[in-house]
Formats: sequence, structure tokens, C-alpha cells
Amino acid sequence: MPRYMTMSALYAPTLKEDPAEAELASHRLLLRAGMIRRTASGVYSYLPLAWRSIKKIERIVREEMDAIGAQEMLTPILSPAELWEESGRWSVYGPELMRVHDRHDRDFALGPTHEETITDLVRGELRSYKQLPVSLYQIQTKFRDERRPRFGLMRGREFIMKDAYSFDANVEGMQASYDAMKGAYARICERVGLKALPVVADSGQIGGDTSVEFMALADAGEAAIVYCDCGYAADEEAAVVQVKAAEGPGGPEVERVHTPGLGAISDVAAFFDVPESACRKSIAIVDGEGRAIVCIIPGDHEFNEIKAAKHFGDFRMMGDEELEDAGLVKGFIGPVGLPEGVALYCDGSLEGSTCWLVGANEADYHLTGVRPGRDFEPIAWLDLVSAKEGDGCPECGLPLHEARGIEVSQVFQLGTKYSESMHATFADEDGQEKPFQMGCYGVGISRTLAAVVEQSNDEHGIVWPVPVAPYEVAVLALSMKDAEVADAARGLSEALAEAGIDVIFDDRDERAGVKFAEADLMGFPYQLVCGKRGIANGVCELKDRATGERSEVALAEAAAMVASLVRERRS
Ligand code: ATP
Ligand code: MG
Repeated sequence: MPRYMTMSALYAPTLKEDPAEAELASHRLLLRAGMIRRTASGVYSYLPLAWRSIKKIERIVREEMDAIGAQEMLTPILSPAELWEESGRWSVYGPELMRVHDRHDRDFALGPTHEETITDLVRGELRSYKQLPVSLYQIQTKFRDERRPRFGLMRGREFIMKDAYSFDANVEGMQASYDAMKGAYARICERVGLKALPVVADSGQIGGDTSVEFMALADAGEAAIVYCDCGYAADEEAAVVQVKAAEGPGGPEVERVHTPGLGAISDVAAFFDVPESACRKSIAIVDGEGRAIVCIIPGDHEFNEIKAAKHFGDFRMMGDEELEDAGLVKGFIGPVGLPEGVALYCDGSLEGSTCWLVGANEADYHLTGVRPGRDFEPIAWLDLVSAKEGDGCPECGLPLHEARGIEVSQVFQLGTKYSESMHATFADEDGQEKPFQMGCYGVGISRTLAAVVEQSNDEHGIVWPVPVAPYEVAVLALSMKDAEVADAARGLSEALAEAGIDVIFDDRDERAGVKFAEADLMGFPYQLVCGKRGIANGVCELKDRATGERSEVALAEAAAMVASLVRERRS
């Protein structure tokens, strides 16, 4: 059996055309290179090339986990409903939880994450502070019935995750376990070849760094991030930033101005010839308890539903009918003279600004010169808007930049959330029974693969970073009919395999153009090209897929030289 793979044997059904369903480069290229195939919506098979890359990512993850003392294990995918009822998540997880029942009509979840299973596993058996800390991890298929599965491996309903859980005796211990995990996650991103940012995920209101997401930077990423030159970075949804709200037009007194048909902020700003930040936007919602609420935010910022949900619970935007029923005029809502029964909240960034341009709560009219405290009083000033480019960094005040990212992993301090609800305790030094301080951590293995391709591709195909390339070198024999060429190429493949390099030999009777195109599409980091004329002169051509650079290399030295290039770029 040869120690190298051949293209003639490889199962990689490539596509000539771009698949219509693929919007993202990574999705398109993984399909075209014959690496993945869709079985059902959000459910994919990994073909041999993809599986080799997955295994390399997993190996890097395992090395980093083992290095911080985490222990690998495997829990079942099936998870009995009773455990989820104990934690309270059987009902709150909603339709995303894939549920099945057995022949005895017992309910199970297909694990989307394993806090319940793991907490149940250790309770009663991890008994003493002397046994702590413990970190356990696994690499396993997870299931989430995503509302919108899309982008191939990026957001699947069945996907591969490395999940880990830490158990500590106290908060300091949890912090240390968390920090170690965070360090390992940063190294994983670097080693798989991702440009990624650790981003504050949890609200700054809680304070400290209790959750960080690692975001692979990509224009097509679903997450919006703000970051600062000082090193601060946060999810737009989580960042509590300094917003500079401009003062509105008008004098010291309230003036009622006729603004016919000008319901949209952009129209209002143009009419008064002021920036949108000088306008105030009014958002009408109904909170979890059915209370009608108006929120006033800066005109140039977006209302953030995740932040709002923290204050208002399970709220919804008011529809046209509800607006009417509450006595609110669409497009002209404002804080002054709200109908009775409508509660008023304002975004904290507006506190201290004294001249507001707002809707008049009357069709086709706005008010200028409105002053908080004198003309109205909100129930509270809350953090209600998403951060955006130019807002002040909460740590240093400098203007923030915007970027988009793909969440590839997340670390999370859980505290006693699960250990308390599930009664998982240990005997502490002082003899007292205490709940574990837990952390949970996840790396999207299959999403990482997609993220690498998303960051690393060009018009010809994938450009694999060496550490996760399915094969590190492709040897192309341009004319297999020529025995000298075929022998030279085979010899190179053998020598590279012998040197421990992952090599694939294109031994097919195909045209040179086809071989070049497929090697580029599949993205092998190095190509060694054996042509008739070169071989006759004792040389072959080396192509670096990333830079496109080509150089002539003596046949006798080619294998050793490429092997050392590959080793330098392994991680
Ligand atoms: P998202 O916000 O993208 O839905 P999440 O925050 O719900 O992800 P976690 O619970 O933090 O996901 O899961 C850990 C990791 O698993 C994520 O960082 C991501 O890399 C990966 N992951 C989560 N959902 C999916 C999915 N549907 N398909 C592929 N990978 C996923
Ligand atoms: Mg997450």
C-alpha cells in the first residue's frame, strides 16, 4: 500500500459550476472541492478531504486541552428529559432543542450542549475540595434545530463541537480555570491559522470578563464587533459604549414645528438640517407583562433587542394596531405628553443632553428645545442601543472601529447556575457542602473549518494554512504517459511520504490544466509540478499556493526542500 494518496483514488467529487445554494465563499468552495455534501437542511457529510482537515483541527484542540490539564472523555448524545427539567431548560430551550422519545414514551434531547449531563455525572462522585479543580472535555456531534440553518458547516443543525466543563471549589479557582481555557482557545485559533479576536460577549453591566467569544474576522460573519486600538473588543450587542449624542436644534423653550409626513429619522434630520445623532428615535414595545413602553434612543443608533430583553423580559415591538390602541402616532412618538398608561425609558447615553428634537405625539408635528427633567422624566435611563463605529471605547474613550466576525468559540463563567439547580455539591475545607463553581467552554470544530476557508481563499479556490490542510503537498505529473515524468513524480511522492509529509499524487491521465485547476481549488499549500521538459533537465517546479510564487527546484533536492518548508509552517 502506498504511503501517499493518489488523485485517481481520492473520493472528492468536484463541481465545475458554483452551486446556486451557496452564498458564502466557504460554503461554495467546500462543495466545489468535493469536501462536503448536504444530506438535509443543516445536515452535512464530511468527505475524505474535509475529514482529514477536521481531524487536524481536532488534534490541535486536543493538544491544547491536554496541555492545560483538561481530560478527554465522551458523554452520550441522548440526554434524558428529566435532567433538563431539573435545570429548567427543558422548557426554556424552546424549539432549538431536538427532542426524541423512545418506545416507552420517555423523552430525550439530542444534546445541543452538555451542562446537564456533565453536572449529573459528577454530582455525588466528585465529593471533596481535595479532588478539585477538574476540567473535562469531549469532541462530539451536537444537535440544534436552528431556525435558519445556513452557510453549509457554518450554521448546521448537526455539527461537531469540542465542549469542556470546569469544576472548582471557589470563584478564584473558577477564574483560573477560565483563564487557562481562554489562553488555550487563543492558541487554538492561532494554530489553525485563523485571524481571530477575543471579544467581550457578556454585558459589561455584570462587570469583569465573564464570557469571551473568539471571533474569526470575516466580512461575511454574522456577528458585528466593535474594537479599539487599546485592545478592547466586544460584540455590538454586548458593548456598553460611550455614545456621543448631539444636541438638537431649537432654543431654550419647546417649539412645535410642522413636519408633514416626516416620520423617518433621515427625513427629520434633513428637514432640520442636523445630523441623525441630533434626533431622538422612539421605539414602542409591549413588555413581558403587557405594559406599553416607549424607549427614546439616539437617532443614529439601533435599538438593541438583546439588551432590551434584559430590562423588559420577553417583549415585542408594537404593531400598527397596538400603537393606535395605546394612543401613539406612528412616526411621531416622543417623550412629552405620552398617552396615559405608556411607560417611558431613555437610553443612558442621552442623560445630560439638554436640547432634544422629538416627535410631538401628534401627527405631522415635532418638538424642538425639549429638556429632560423639565418637560418629561423617564422612569429610568437604560442601556438600550447597539454600539457602532465611532462610539467611544468604554475603556479608553477612543473611537471604536467596526468589523464582522464568525464566532468560532466561547468561554463562559457559569458560577453555580447548574450546580445549584441540580444540587451538585462538594464538601469544602470547612466541612460545609457547597455547590461547584463551574465554567463551560465550546469550540465549533466544523464551524472552525468553514471559518478557515472563509478567511483563506482566492478566485481559484481554497488556500489551506499548512496546519489544517488535508494534504500539505500535491505532486502533479503533467503527463503520465511519459514514463520518466511518472517515475519522477512517484519518486517525489514516495520521498515526501517517507519524510512524514501528507502528500497527494495526481497520477491521473488528465490534461495539465485540469490538474492545476483542481490542485488550486482543493487548496494544497504546495504543488510540485513535474513536466516533460523540466524532468529531462532534472528539475521540477514548486508553487506556493498562498503567494502564487513559482520556482525551479532540482529534482534531487525537491523532496527535502519542500518537507522543510512544510515543517516550518506546521503549528
Ligand atoms: P451562535 O450564536 O452562532 O448560534 P452559540 O453562541 O449559540 O452560537 P455556543 O453555545 O457558544 O454557540 O457553542 C459553542 C460553539 O459551537 C460556537 O462558538 C460555535 O463555534 C459552535 N456552534 C454553535 N452553533 C453552531 C451551529 N449551529 N453550527 C455550527 N457550529 C455551531
Ligand atoms: Mg456562543
